Amino acid sequence: MKITGYRIRTFPNQTDRALGDANTPGGNGTSMPGSLLYIDTDENISGIVPGGSPMVGQLFPLIEGEDPRGVRGLWKKMMDAVFKGGAEGGVNMALNAIDMALWDLKAKLADEPLWRTLGASEPRTKVYASGVDMNLTDDEVHEFYSRAADRGIDGGKLKVGLDMEADIRRLGIVNDCLKRVTPRPMLAIDSNEYWSPKQAIRYTSELERHFDITWIEEPARRWDYEGLRLVSQNVKAAVATGENINGLADFYPLIANEAVDIVQVWNGRTGITGAMQVAHMAYAFELPVTTAINPGNYMAPLGAALPNHISMEMVDAGQPPCWHADQYVEDGWIHMGDTPGLGIIVDEEKLSELEALSRSGPQPGARPRFARREGAGLYIVPATSDEVVWK
Ligand SMILES: [Mg+2]
Repeated sequence: MKITGYRIRTFPNQTDRALGDANTPGGNGTSMPGSLLYIDTDENISGIVPGGSPMVGQLFPLIEGEDPRGVRGLWKKMMDAVFKGGAEGGVNMALNAIDMALWDLKAKLADEPLWRTLGASEPRTKVYASGVDMNLTDDEVHEFYSRAADRGIDGGKLKVGLDMEADIRRLGIVNDCLKRVTPRPMLAIDSNEYWSPKQAIRYTSELERHFDITWIEEPARRWDYEGLRLVSQNVKAAVATGENINGLADFYPLIANEAVDIVQVWNGRTGITGAMQVAHMAYAFELPVTTAINPGNYMAPLGAALPNHISMEMVDAGQPPCWHADQYVEDGWIHMGDTPGLGIIVDEEKLSELEALSRSGPQPGARPRFARREGAGLYIVPATSDEVVWK
């Protein structure tokens, strides 16, 4: 059994709402080019995963002709090959997309769902609702978290950081919506590295006068272990961070210096092999893990398999137009089916149609990014009425 080739198939993609945070309070638009990476084999079975970038082509010769079932060995081969420059940026994203496609293949070749291949005992993963909602009106925030409550979801995460009064009001809306599910919803806030550590402490402490907050996410820069630890020691909320760092080597200084209380792993930064390594290190320190944003919630099998996983971020901004995962949400959990692999089911006909359309359009990686906002880490620049309609 051999790996014979790869394909990156692109298609135009729309989210059903714009996403916004403290760095992009007006939202970043709804058009997000999508892609699927296929790793093909001589058995006519392909590993398929969302993502992929032109960098895949640079790594592919390392795995070509290899047995795809040796996922961890192939991961190490790729990591060793990029040793000097490091698994950073686009190289890291490509490496992780390949890693996840290989895990998908490994499970498909065993004719079992990935949650089973990874050793989960139950086919389910707990989720929390995440509106990525700085740009939403109060009514839209209400609608989003009400819809989550309808599905039994008892946790929610609000984007905060630019306007204390608005954040108190809007966190109250989230809390009220989720109280339909539980008397004490799991409330989280996310400032996306907008604050300095001292700002984070002042701001979070003020919010904590009104709410019981489970975690504050990325309250300081991703590498600033002293700043993150300072925040952790001076607010009641746990510090969650990690969605923008790459793997075990980056997590080590944070974990060893007590700078993170809830460890975030993410398909784009750690893949599956890297996520398991980070999660197991966290487990040794009794730290919980959360899986961050992933389109179509396709990372649910990973969450199910991690012994210290508490909840997966569910952004719920619309389904991709040509694939879906074999799963449903009920009682606050994602329940996965028995489709082999990640459970991704591609509508090949639709994909071919869309692929033809996207050939002249933007390529993966060209989508608008969440750039860092003026004043970040220095002083708070409130959102203007041009940016957010709730001003
Ligand atoms: Mg975040």
